[in-house]
Amino acid sequence: MAVGQENEEGYNRDMGKLLGPVCRQCRREGIKLMLKGNRCETAKCPMEKQNRNKPPGMHSWRRGRGSDYGVRLREKQKVKRYYGVLEKQFRIYFSEAERQKANTGQALLALLERRLDNVVYKMNMTNSRKDARQMIAHGHIKVNGHKVDIVSYLVKQGDKITVRDSEKTKKMIQANIEVDPNAPVQPWLQVNNAAMEGTVVSMPTRDDVQIPVEEQLIVEFCSR
Ligand code: SF4
Repeated sequence: MAVGQENEEGYNRDMGKLLGPVCRQCRREGIKLMLKGNRCETAKCPMEKQNRNKPPGMHSWRRGRGSDYGVRLREKQKVKRYYGVLEKQFRIYFSEAERQKANTGQALLALLERRLDNVVYKMNMTNSRKDARQMIAHGHIKVNGHKVDIVSYLVKQGDKITVRDSEKTKKMIQANIEVDPNAPVQPWLQVNNAAMEGTVVSMPTRDDVQIPVEEQLIVEFCSR
């Protein structure tokens, strides 16, 4: 692979970033990863179109279920893409999950759910995790009154998420809230749209993970 080119998973070798057509990732995994915000809910989503909801590339129709290795690999890739984490970060989460007493697969998903970018997105402050990452990196988000610009920050029970006291920030958040002011919020989070703030009332459980995934297959893949 030449320098600067993307590999087959869409990662740029130099930048370590996921580039390329985003919808291709959903087509590869065969599920809606909701990577494009509001567009994902519309008929423009390729996964809603009969002739576009297949894996990308020529001869995709020839591909079967794949080997056991392939099936496990896809489960891992699905989760990585959904939460927007790279392989190295993912392995760190896996090691952390292994150290916990709980079921490793469930602990892994719970760790990923607790990422600040995921929490900001699930509090409906942004319309995608990607936008949430940008908001956080640019210092628009506070946790317990302090600016946190680390997208992978893991929230804890009782953490209060607020936004920077600036017109620009509030305008951006308000625009997202107005898209669907009554959007449901998961039971482990509590949101006050008027005040543009939210609280982590409990730790996420397996039921709070919305992506259809068999976490045991990921554990088997990563434990090889
Ligand atoms: Fe593209 Fe969103 Fe549809 Fe995925 S869910 S294919 S990111 S529009």
